[in-house]
Amino acid sequence: MARIMDTSVEAVKAAADFVEVVSARTQLRKVGARYTGRCPFHEERTPSFTVNAVDKLYYCFGCGAKGDLITFVRETEGLDFVESIEWLGERFRVPIEYEESSPAQDEARQRRERLFAVLDQAATFYERTLWDSQAGGMARDYLKGRRLGEDVCREFRLGLALGGMSLARKALEKGFTPEELSAAGLTRQRGDDYFQRRLLFPLADARGRVVGFQARRLHEDDPLK
Ligand code: ZN
Repeated sequence: MARIMDTSVEAVKAAADFVEVVSARTQLRKVGARYTGRCPFHEERTPSFTVNAVDKLYYCFGCGAKGDLITFVRETEGLDFVESIEWLGERFRVPIEYEESSPAQDEARQRRERLFAVLDQAATFYERTLWDSQAGGMARDYLKGRRLGEDVCREFRLGLALGGMSLARKALEKGFTPEELSAAGLTRQRGDDYFQRRLLFPLADARGRVVGFQARRLHEDDPLK
């Protein structure tokens, strides 16, 4: 994993508004020099969570949760250290610089990015199939029957897999390799599409990147439960 330069870590810590970050999770009220609110880490009715906005630290008198800006982002967003710095950097517009990395690390990062790219393009492909293809009519009727409006479906990027090799062919055309398709879980051993005649719901990670799909069957004879 790429190492972020210490200067970038410090710049992110300095630029981030901790009260703003915490406020996305719980409502804070200023009390003297501190802020307090209900703890985002345990259920409670009366606030026992306190935030020191200057040193960017938090402490909960109820459950003992404590830490700094980075710990808070790691815990609440489910990210690791590097991802937390990147998340904060994006949010507070601090460019992140990385230590020089080895060719192997570069390769691993590029590969991860390729897999995210193919998953995202697959999501787009399945969306188009759902809304723009004639074969998608039945799935669109199904959604209508379940009172799922198009706006909601589009927001969650619902899609339709027709199967065969429709996705695989498109992805290969775009320069992805059979190995990448298989590693991303999009094809089966024979090289045909993993998802056949199903409605698909993309699954996203904490940063909103597509990491996979959940499938729902549309046909009675589909063995999937
Ligand atoms: Zn707590």
